[in-house]
Order: sequence, then C-alpha cells, then structure tokens
Amino acid sequence: MASDVGGGMSANKRLGVAILGSTGSIGTTALRVLDRQRERFRVVALTAFNNAALLGEQAERFQPSFVGLVQNGVDPHAGWNAGTACLIEAARRDDVDIVLNAIVGSAGLDATLAALDKGKRVALANKETLVMAGELVTAACRAGGGEIVPVDSEHSAILQCIAGRPGVDVRRVIITASGGPFREWTSDQLEGATLEDALRHPTWRMGRKITVDSATLANKALEVIEAHFLFGLPYDRIEVVVHPQSVVHSFVEFVDGSVLAQLGVPSMELPVLYALTHPDRIADTGVPHFDPVALSPLTFEPIRADQFSAFSLGVAAGRKGGAAPAVFNAANEAAVALFLDARIRFADIGVAIAGALDALGDMPGVSREAILAADTAARRFVQERFAC
Ligand code: NAD
Ligand code: MG
Repeated sequence: MASDVGGGMSANKRLGVAILGSTGSIGTTALRVLDRQRERFRVVALTAFNNAALLGEQAERFQPSFVGLVQNGVDPHAGWNAGTACLIEAARRDDVDIVLNAIVGSAGLDATLAALDKGKRVALANKETLVMAGELVTAACRAGGGEIVPVDSEHSAILQCIAGRPGVDVRRVIITASGGPFREWTSDQLEGATLEDALRHPTWRMGRKITVDSATLANKALEVIEAHFLFGLPYDRIEVVVHPQSVVHSFVEFVDGSVLAQLGVPSMELPVLYALTHPDRIADTGVPHFDPVALSPLTFEPIRADQFSAFSLGVAAGRKGGAAPAVFNAANEAAVALFLDARIRFADIGVAIAGALDALGDMPGVSREAILAADTAARRFVQERFAC
C-alpha cells in the first residue's frame, strides 16, 4: 500500500489534509495537532454533519479551500457545499494528499472508498466502515494505490511496533482494552446501568457513540476486526487484554518470542499525528510528558467476555465473515442510538445485536450493494423489534 505521502514529507512540500468530521472529538483533536504543524501540513478541506457554528469557526481559523456541511436544511454559508456528496468531493480533491476520516459510523464508507480510489492516504479513525466492508475497503486500497493508516490508538501502536518489518515476522498481536466504566460490575449491576454510568469513561474523553461502545466492549470487537483487515492477521493471532490505565496501547509478539509495545499517556494527539507522518516522526510539543513512575502500576487482566456479549458476538461475526460484521456493526449503531435516546436499556444493546445476527448474519456480503442491504436490514430489525 503506497500513496506518495512519504515522498511528500521528505520533499518538504506542505501536504494537504481533508478532515471529514472536523467538529467531533477526533476532528477537533486533529485540528489542535495541525495548528502546531502548519509548516508541514495545510488544512484544505473540512466537513461536518450539522454543527455549522463550530465548522464556521474552524473555517475562519484554517481558511480551507473546501467546506462541506452534510445535513440538508441547515443553511450553508456562501461558498459551502452541502449534502452527503460533499464528503466524496472533499475526499477526491486534487489538493488533498491525506484524508482524515473522523466520521462516526457507516456514513463514512463512501468517502474512504473514494479517497482510496484516488490513491490518497486515508488516516482512518472511522473504524466502523473497515469492519462493515473490510474486503471492499482493502480491495479499493490495492486497486487505487492508496494507503490506510490507522488513527485508533491500539492499531497505531501495532503499526509503530511493526513499521518496517514484514508481516510474516509477527506471531500475534495483543490489543489492550481499558475495560470501560463497567470493568468490575457484576451482571446484576449491569442490568441497572444508566446512560450517565455508561458515558463516564475512566481514561478517554471521546464522542458519545464510541464511549458507549467502550462500556459494552463492542468497541474492542470492532478493533479486533479492524486489526484483522489492517494487518492481514487471522483471528487466532489477535488477542485482547484488559489494561485499566490505558498506557500500553498494544503489544506485538514476533516469531522469536520478543514482544514490543508502544506506550504513552492516554491522548489521541500522538496517534493522529503519527497517522499523518508515518513512517516518519516529527517533533511535536503537544504530547504529554511520559513519567513511568507517576503512571505506575501498570496492570493487566483477562477480558470478561462472558459478561460483555457485544464483545463475543462481534468477534464471532468477524470470524464468520460475509455480511456478519456489517450486521454486527449496524445493529450496534442502531442499538446505541436507541440507548443514547433513552429508548432501550444498556443490557438491551447486546440482546439487539444477538437478535440481528441470528436473523441476518448469513446474508451475502461481497459487493457494496450487498453490504449496504445488510446494514439497512440490521438497522430496521433493531428499530422494529427494540424501539419503544
Ligand atoms: P464524534 O461523535 O465526536 O464526531 C463525529 C464527527 O462525524 C462529527 O464531526 C460529525 O459532524 C460527523 N458526522 C456524524 N454523522 C455524520 C454523517 N452521517 N455524515 C457525515 N458526518 C457525520 O465522534 P468521535 O469520537 O470523534 O469518533 C469518530 C470516529 O473515530 C469513530 O469511528 C470512532 O470510533 C473513532 N475513534 C474515536 C476515538 C476518540 O478518542 N474519540 C478514538 C479512536 C477511534
Ligand atoms: Mg481504540
């Protein structure tokens, strides 16, 4: 996988960056990083769903040549683009070298495919679309000559450990998980978990959907599937360990038994920066100081897969393949949206995913159309059976 970003870094040209989802948690983090790195990068495109006020402030500050606001009905400023087509337009622009896809959920799929088709580097935070359409996205990457560089901290850690090494040297990867706010809760306690409880993540400040995914551990299943597609590893060689301090971002074990890990204070600024500069590293003042004594002790424990059905269901869907990962992802997105609207209970999220996979997990999943059909069917299933 090779876009010409690496060459661009060394040739001292300022690389053009499009940020899709610039008003979200990752999008605003990326703009903090890019504000410090204006000598290397130029923000040339920004898109958001409906937060016109924040998008306007960002556009004023960074003066991009393209601004897109997806939601129809919100009056766009003069010169702004509107509707879902603006995501693809931003991703394909000639002045864009790197597309940071920081959109949440399956809405990010076509922009990733468009960027890869044009041979761009995709700095991918939007893990849901690699999960729902992993074969399609990796095929688009190969066909278009683009490159996918993960933003997710665990996958960034793995990439940083294996950078420059052939994949055959890797025996297994161990992805770390904070365990979320319910790490020590019993199943009885989980029955009574509220939205407020679920949104109280112990180590990371993130958007609401991924914060709930971290509480159900659906996020870790998404990350196992993400690792499978990013690094071409079979599921038997991808493991998960709970690490409540979120300081070790993942481990890579090599064939000789040596284990490398990447560590850092929990902050998405480094993974975002590394996704822009990989395989190079550049100086940055924003990343917090690392003090092993202050961060100690670092502890590890097994994942309680039996208590968190969204995790085991997701990994099983990944192993099954076809449309099952798309059904898992869409059912999860639909169930989390209902939970965020206080229309279902926390424990119903896993039940909804299980029901959707039972009913629809055998749907075909080769083409974009088949995947989107599975996605739509799973959302409808959850809406019809669970929304009250
Ligand atoms: P967020 O909800 O804070 O932001 C989402 C962004 O996507 C917003 O800018 C919003 O305008 C845009 N958006 C939402 N729906 C859209 C649609 N239908 N069409 C176009 N744009 C839309 O979410 P986030 O926490 O920044 O997460 C973004 C992605 O990054 C997710 O896939 C998440 O799993 C992943 N991620 C986030 C973190 C984190 O620390 N926040 C860490 C790792 C991975
Ligand atoms: Mg992660």
